[in-house]
Amino acid sequence: MNIIMMGAQGTGKGTVAGLLSEKTGWPQISTGDIFRKNVEEKTELGIEANKYMASGNLVPDEITVPMVANRLNEEDAKDGFILDGFPRTIAQAEKLDEILKEKNKKIDMVINLTTPREETIERILTRRVCSNQECKATYNLVMHPPKVEGICDKCGAELVQRKDDSSRESINKRLEIYDTQTAPLVEYYEKKGVLRTEEVSTKVNRLGNNVADDVLRDIKGE
Ligand code: AMP
Repeated sequence: MNIIMMGAQGTGKGTVAGLLSEKTGWPQISTGDIFRKNVEEKTELGIEANKYMASGNLVPDEITVPMVANRLNEEDAKDGFILDGFPRTIAQAEKLDEILKEKNKKIDMVINLTTPREETIERILTRRVCSNQECKATYNLVMHPPKVEGICDKCGAELVQRKDDSSRESINKRLEIYDTQTAPLVEYYEKKGVLRTEEVSTKVNRLGNNVADDVLRDIKGE
């Protein structure tokens, strides 16, 4: 099954995508993670992408779209994938449709996570990620803290704050881009009949793992 995870920063896209990937075996394809790995390894792509990422801007489509197309060509994505962070604009969604059409494929489900804005900002500020790029586990200092402060439960590496999570300016910029450029995708996928909107909020006591459980149950037809 081919799935897209949608939702503003801090709604738990990565968490839900990771849980679904673990249970289905379909790869989680996070454009942000691919970029961050390239930045860390100082590849040409990483150096170029970092010019945009550090300030919270989108990396241009000339870089992003071929990167996703190549990743979708890999063997592990042939039976299904979970896109996390792509598409982020209508133009990217249209390019994705073209890429998939050539392979006789389509998007089967778009999971749109919604969370009250004040909660998302709080979550972004308290998010910590594993510094080991092969692990990339995500924690939240309030809702999901690591067992030992500053250390990843899964691999023992140091936990760090993403550079773009530490500045209010970058957070605001990313949320503004989400509202103006990414949110219109809700209607785009609603029209295609593949949209599934899920509220994730402590206010309604519903978190990413609840959403993942419900989606998995539906996928299995239980
Ligand atoms: P994320 O981890 O999804 O929050 O992405 C981190 C950063 O990577 C974003 O703020 C963008 O600079 C860049 N990025 C990730 N996905 C895309 C995309 N689909 N298009 C353009 N830039 C992206």
